Amino acid sequence: MDFELNEVQRLMANTAERFAEKEVIPWLEREGDAQEMISKMGEVGLFGCAFPPRFGGSQAGFLAHSVVCEKISMADSGLRSSFNLQAMTGAYPIMEWGTKEAQDNYIEALVTGKKAGCVCFSEPNAGSDLAAMETKIEDKGDHFLVNGTKTWISNGTFADIAIVYGTTDRSLKAKGIVGLIIETDQKGWMPHEIDKLGDKNSPIAEITMEDVVVPKENLLGEIGGGFKVAMTALDRGRISVSTGAVAVAQACLNASVKYANERSQFGQLIGKFQMVQSIIADMAAHIEAARHLVYHAAWRNDQDLPFSREVAVAKYFAGEVAVKCAGWAMEIHGGMGYSLEMPVEKFYRDSKLYQVGEGTSNIMKMIIANDALGYKTANRPRLKVPSQFKDLE
Ligand SMILES: Cc1cc2nc3c(=O)[nH]c(=O)nc-3n(C[C@H](O)[C@H](O)[C@H](O)COP(=O)(O)OP(=O)(O)OC[C@H]3O[C@@H](n4cnc5c(N)ncnc54)[C@H](O)[C@@H]3O)c2cc1C
Repeated sequence: MDFELNEVQRLMANTAERFAEKEVIPWLEREGDAQEMISKMGEVGLFGCAFPPRFGGSQAGFLAHSVVCEKISMADSGLRSSFNLQAMTGAYPIMEWGTKEAQDNYIEALVTGKKAGCVCFSEPNAGSDLAAMETKIEDKGDHFLVNGTKTWISNGTFADIAIVYGTTDRSLKAKGIVGLIIETDQKGWMPHEIDKLGDKNSPIAEITMEDVVVPKENLLGEIGGGFKVAMTALDRGRISVSTGAVAVAQACLNASVKYANERSQFGQLIGKFQMVQSIIADMAAHIEAARHLVYHAAWRNDQDLPFSREVAVAKYFAGEVAVKCAGWAMEIHGGMGYSLEMPVEKFYRDSKLYQVGEGTSNIMKMIIANDALGYKTANRPRLKVPSQFKDLE
């Protein structure tokens, strides 16, 4: 295993680091909107690491995607979701499962940030149990018709393009699921914003769909094959989500080191107290372990190796580390951790998502344990590996 970045990967990482300093931090200070930042990030190529140049990408790979996503998410965890919606769970499934027309119509627009994406798995009655979804998809011969409600949809308040999963027949469970690409600029698409605890720069919507019309060429995979599309999308999405968790944890460590080297009690810096040092050491060790797990999963995909199990391990561990580090950072900051003047209260709020989104910690543990116990192999041959997209270059 070699996680040393090559020249293209290093270039992408440096671009992201400079972008975070020059664009994201000032944007946060002036409370700009997410749409503006998505189009800027797309313009400089931050979503394109895993895509060929034909679709506006750099082909730097999944490890590069992770490194770039970490640099931006460290500045603001709310922007992390766009690395999925514009790339891993948005554009990539179109590359893997979409028709030629859909590939030409949507991938480049998402990857370069010209259009904003959202991805709709969750429903009021179907979260972890996606096979129970109720959104109804009808085949009307020359088009599909969609009716139903999706919830917890990141960037769903303004997205132009949505990947929506629904069912042709609920009694078929997973075998009835269909994935479609929907253009949201139509009367029956009705989002409204839901307020939430953290990740404030990624607005969440509940979306009602009434007779939403979808052209036939916007089908992903096959009718009834949508569950597989969703699962492969989620595997790749977990690379961005676990990266975001590492980023929040690292931001917590950076803030804690700064504070421990500034704040004095009993005549010395609090960083000199062994109990504070113990927390700093725990944070540093946990973050390093989490980052290596994430890199390992991303690297395996770059090597054309299956990585569903490895990314479940990474997502579970990194999500827990984010929440632990946020708690530790609060502790090191004492009363100031509770203050709205310091960044750690934001990290604390943002961290919690990482135990929930893209599969909860329990669901990740189920995947890991079922694989370990020999009940269900996690790395089944269902994901296309990067070399299988060579014909699209
Ligand atoms: C900030 C945020 C952004 C999100 N963005 C999106 C998005 O863009 N698109 C989208 O589709 N969804 C999105 N989600 C939804 C997210 O994917 C779901 O919240 C998540 O999958 C869990 O589903 P649920 O909330 O319905 O919880 P539930 O599935 O109801 O789970 C509740 C609890 O029960 C546990 N549980 C459930 N089943 C099992 C089981 N079999 N064994 C053990 N424990 C179990 C869970 O681990 C959890 O602790 C987002 C969520 C958040 C918080």
